[in-house]
Amino acid sequence: MLAVLLVVELLAVGTLAASIPFAVDQLPDNWALFTAVLVGAGVLSTEASLGVERMRHQSDETPHIDLSSVWTFAAAALLPGAAASVVVLGIYGHLYARVWRGGVPPHRAIYSTATVVLAVQAASAVTGLVERDELFTSLPGLAAVLLAVLAYAAVNMVLVVAAIVLSGPNRDLTTFLQVLTRTDEAVLEFATLSMGALAAGAMGALGPAYAVLVLPPLIVLHRTVLVRQLEEAASVDGKTGLLNAAAWHVRAVRALRRAERTGGRAGLLVLDLDHFKAVNDRYGHLVGDQVLAAVAEAVRDEVRDDDLVGRFGGEEFVVLLAGSDAEDGRVAAAAVAERIRSRIADIRVEVPGARGTVAVDNLTVSIGGASYPTDGADLGQLLEVADTAMYAAKRAGRNTVRMGLHAVPSGAVRPVPRHRP
Ligand code: GH3
Ligand code: MG
Ligand code: MG
Repeated sequence: MLAVLLVVELLAVGTLAASIPFAVDQLPDNWALFTAVLVGAGVLSTEASLGVERMRHQSDETPHIDLSSVWTFAAAALLPGAAASVVVLGIYGHLYARVWRGGVPPHRAIYSTATVVLAVQAASAVTGLVERDELFTSLPGLAAVLLAVLAYAAVNMVLVVAAIVLSGPNRDLTTFLQVLTRTDEAVLEFATLSMGALAAGAMGALGPAYAVLVLPPLIVLHRTVLVRQLEEAASVDGKTGLLNAAAWHVRAVRALRRAERTGGRAGLLVLDLDHFKAVNDRYGHLVGDQVLAAVAEAVRDEVRDDDLVGRFGGEEFVVLLAGSDAEDGRVAAAAVAERIRSRIADIRVEVPGARGTVAVDNLTVSIGGASYPTDGADLGQLLEVADTAMYAAKRAGRNTVRMGLHAVPSGAVRPVPRHRP
């Protein structure tokens, strides 16, 4: 990790030093004005991003997203590499002073700045292949601008993702490729760079003041980073991290439709914790909430990643088991239900409190199950069957699984021979 940081930083300093002689030769007359306007615009867009970032940070800790690559890319297109790097240093110096100081350790700030310097050098080298007057007026110029966008994105994203993956727990190529191809971030990066190219075109052809027209769409673009967060907030239950009832329903309907189309099977489980009111009465609601979170984690842990686990209501959970390959979906669902039942019986939650740590165990659950297509043709029917089976499990003494329309005990579910038409 340290070696990568050092190499990238030395490379940035090295290319910057090496590009200074070229810059002196190729510096356009108005370079100082362009540099000042680009730094100013970058400072303004960082300031404008603070509102959205504050909103984003209310719910989770994600890195600050600012769209300053609009300006650093425009600098790379309009100026020689060394001068464009001055713009980078100006914008990132301000970003550090306003946003990162206190939160981001200096070595990370330096690394981020170094990756942008390298990206700018790469993009500037590509746009330098054609004459500046031709850059925004000819077909080869357009090709150079597009190539520069790719070069900028490639250098910046590869270096940033490498640092993220190297500082995480899984330092392998698969993780690296996974993070690199997260579409949301990549799309945002390309949108920002496209705006940078347009800004450079307008500023180069019409004058630096045209930077002003880029700021409003940039702020709107920045707001799109809220969308994913809002989507997640709207579909996740805050107490348990599971899908909330509405989001679970939408996805479960979709999963059943898929099963219908492919002739697959699916299982549905409805879980209700036993005598949960007693847990609240004895330990208080806050401890009750922690128990709910522990149950959610246990259920999640016992099913596959593509199974849908939701919080249906207070202490009721639902699980849609997608695509079981078993001969009889009910057998497969019963096996999973049994596993969840015994896992929950083993849960022990320790909650530190004012009067010492309280330990909650003896937790049990009653589970009702239904299988598609045996017990019902749609989600509504399956839920009804599973819910009825869950109440049968309660009546049978709790801490039990019951399956299907006639609420058979899970142990009595035997594989049935496959019927062939
Ligand atoms: P049983 O299901 O075995 O019949 O008994 P029960 O006591 O669990 O009864 P029921 O399922 O009706 O209980 C619902 C209880 O769950 C009522 C309430 O105290 C508790 N509960 C519901 N939502 C929450 C929640 O968000 N947090 C906490 N701590 N408790 C909740
Ligand atoms: Mg209940
Ligand atoms: Mg209950």
